[in-house]
Amino acid sequence: MERIKIRDKFFVPYITNRQIMSAVDNVAEEINADFENSGEVPIILCVLNGAIIFTGHLLPRLRFECELAGIRVSSYKGTVSTGNIREVLGLTTDIAGRTVIIVEDIVDTGQTISKLCKNLEDRGAKDVRVCTLAVKPDIYSNERKLDYVGMEVDSKYLVGWGFDYDQMGRNLDAIYVLDDKPFNKMKYYVLLGPPGAGKGTMAKLLVEKLGYRHVSTGDLLRKEISAGTPLGAQAKILIDGGNLVPDEIVIGMIRNEIESNPSATGFLFDGFPRNVAQAKSLDDMLQQMGQSVTRAVCIYVSDEEATRRIKRRALIENRMDDTDESVIANRMRTYHEITEPVIKFYKDCGKYFEVSADSTIEENFRRVSKVID
Ligand code: AMP
Repeated sequence: MERIKIRDKFFVPYITNRQIMSAVDNVAEEINADFENSGEVPIILCVLNGAIIFTGHLLPRLRFECELAGIRVSSYKGTVSTGNIREVLGLTTDIAGRTVIIVEDIVDTGQTISKLCKNLEDRGAKDVRVCTLAVKPDIYSNERKLDYVGMEVDSKYLVGWGFDYDQMGRNLDAIYVLDDKPFNKMKYYVLLGPPGAGKGTMAKLLVEKLGYRHVSTGDLLRKEISAGTPLGAQAKILIDGGNLVPDEIVIGMIRNEIESNPSATGFLFDGFPRNVAQAKSLDDMLQQMGQSVTRAVCIYVSDEEATRRIKRRALIENRMDDTDESVIANRMRTYHEITEPVIKFYKDCGKYFEVSADSTIEENFRRVSKVID
């Protein structure tokens, strides 16, 4: 089981399906012990929607006659308990003189359940019992006796096996807990430097060494071009001329890469940010996640050496923008005029490091590793 993302939040594994099943077995046996030979026909009252899955597993394990009914109450909005019970979907079964077993997914403060019990007693129920898959003992007020409890859980926000986050995640076959520090160990490195300096080569070696995710906006754009997407068609004209593609396109790509790789331990941005506006957007994006750029590392070589390397790469990678002298010259100009100010941006926030990449790949990698480790 891995960390998962639901809407804007991350959740980590908490209770396995096997543990849940064993809790359901235990609870079912406790209820059977009370009702199997009692002659009673209790009403099993499923509290919708959360307890649907629990009820669905519990019912076939009960070895006595019973009726099934549902009621919908609500006390949650988002991840914060409001404490107010609202009966949304009324109970249609006549419960006067009957034994009712409320089936809940979770009891936290206990306010919802005690109000519900009182409501059922006011309607004339003979005996009201509470069965819950889980209880949060840290915050449970003990206002009302819980007759059948599957498991005790921490007072954290749970999702899966009936528990939802804004109606999502109920279908997960295990229970997950909110990961409130999802990116704690995450590293974000920015690789700067002129085209042809070897950022991609260094990034690939760093990925092998550290397991971080290499995000090259150039590679992502080239993928769009080969897939023949409208975005690719728009990017191709700009790339072939040695010009930058619009900021919102690359920023969207970066956001998508971060959000769709929640289990990454770090990111190496190669060819991004390409101007100060992109650097600021990256800062804002990471800030919203409680994160920040770890370091910006400039891998530099002279323009002459960069141009030589680009021409050598043209023979291997078949890139249009690597073959034409005037396009290469335009990319160099773009780098000096538009991308170089990014260096000052990171210098100003004390995150800037530079490495001369004028040696062999092995030596250059040793130098870069020193800064990144
Ligand atoms: P690269 O593979 O990094 O040399 O990028 C190839 C081309 O893709 C660049 O010359 C730009 O046209 C485009 N590109 C890559 N990254 C960016 C970016 N961050 N912002 C704008 N354009 C980009």
